[in-house]
Amino acid sequence: LKENNARQMWHPMAHPGDQAAHPPKIITRAAGVRITDIDDHAVIDAVGGLWCVNLGYSNDVVKQSIADQLFELPYYSAFAGSSNPPAIEAAHAVQAFFAEDGIERVFFTSGGSDSVETCLRLARQYHRLRGEPTRTKFISLKKGYHGTHFGGASVNGNNRFRINYEPLLPGCYHLPAPYPYRNPFNETDPARLAQLIAQAFEDEIAFQGAETIAALIVEPILGAGGVIVPDASFMPLMREICDRHGILMISDEVITGFGRTGDWSGARHWGVKPDMMSTAKGITSGYFPVGAALISGKVAEVFETSKPAEGTISHGYTYSAHPVGAAAVVACLSETLRLDTKANAAARGTQLFDGVRKLAEKHGLIGDVRGGHGLMTGIELVSDRAQKTPLDGTTVKRIHEAVYEAGAMVRMSGHNFLMSPPLTITEDEVNSVLGALDTGFASV
Ligand code: PMP
Repeated sequence: LKENNARQMWHPMAHPGDQAAHPPKIITRAAGVRITDIDDHAVIDAVGGLWCVNLGYSNDVVKQSIADQLFELPYYSAFAGSSNPPAIEAAHAVQAFFAEDGIERVFFTSGGSDSVETCLRLARQYHRLRGEPTRTKFISLKKGYHGTHFGGASVNGNNRFRINYEPLLPGCYHLPAPYPYRNPFNETDPARLAQLIAQAFEDEIAFQGAETIAALIVEPILGAGGVIVPDASFMPLMREICDRHGILMISDEVITGFGRTGDWSGARHWGVKPDMMSTAKGITSGYFPVGAALISGKVAEVFETSKPAEGTISHGYTYSAHPVGAAAVVACLSETLRLDTKANAAARGTQLFDGVRKLAEKHGLIGDVRGGHGLMTGIELVSDRAQKTPLDGTTVKRIHEAVYEAGAMVRMSGHNFLMSPPLTITEDEVNSVLGALDTGFASV
């Protein structure tokens, strides 16, 4: 396995020619919150797979449900004109999680990028159905991450993920992120920064013409961009502007949905009801690839009251409402409720956030610590605190490896460490992660 590790398989987000020099870690087994590599080194998975393993790796209820469903009905298409029992149950369960957010309908996909794409497409179709076909453009945030499909990449706010694939979807515009540590306004006050971004949004709408804009897509807490938590006024400001100009608001909850932030949705922290939500990850805790686009009553009504000739959704996936995936959703969500993972995410998230802030008093390499809403924590590494100079990649990698050796897997993203452990993590396990970080920082 080690010999072939970097041969046939190209690894996502990696340089194929670099794989031999930096072979990807081979993870062979996992239990609870721990993963074990091919050399039998076990660590706490403070990444939660990829922000998704909310229930940890040992949930037998989910495993058994998947196995049972494989023997009952392993697959049938739900493309048009067919359905299956677990998919019906899963839609019911998902809607219940987000009823408080105004969500009424569920469109199943195969993952987060598919869910984003579904929301973007439905946004355009919604406006066409309402007799406003000129509303085709999308607005999003710099540092936002919305997956890898062409639509998602177009609204992506990180040039690195767009540059090689131009020309992307025309008519996509990016506002500054609510990131007080670095922003083009040099504004460190989060509330004033929110005002400035709201003004930039208004300016963009005035420039483009409101009648050309389909939707705003935002993460309620930016994940891959570095765990950026906006000021409490930010999302309400965005919602109000969208409403005033007839623009739909899509909340990308692929990471933040299903409890990770300490509530069932990220939008709920800010008291806003989005028109659509893209979800995935925690919907099955990584046990099966599933996503879902969630649709509010306002949007659903336009589709459901239109004539089939216009309102038919000409969009779907071979694996939309996959019965085994749907069985995973049903089991995962019932376990999520039984274990009350959102409560643990809130408590352990505070512990992790406070713990990292304490480490920052000791280690000058920690420039900024972000989080405070559940189990999403970001650490920005700098070589000079006053200048905010990003720490060089070689040192970041060395610390990352030292943290791994000391017992925790964290996510390296540029000069940031990001953490999103399983929502089932215990107090002692959070302390172990903090200990591994401490050792890692002390090693350079
Ligand atoms: N949106 C957000 C906010 C995400 O974090 C991600 C994945 N990290 C995606 C979309 C894409 O999801 P997937 O990788 O499952 O396609």
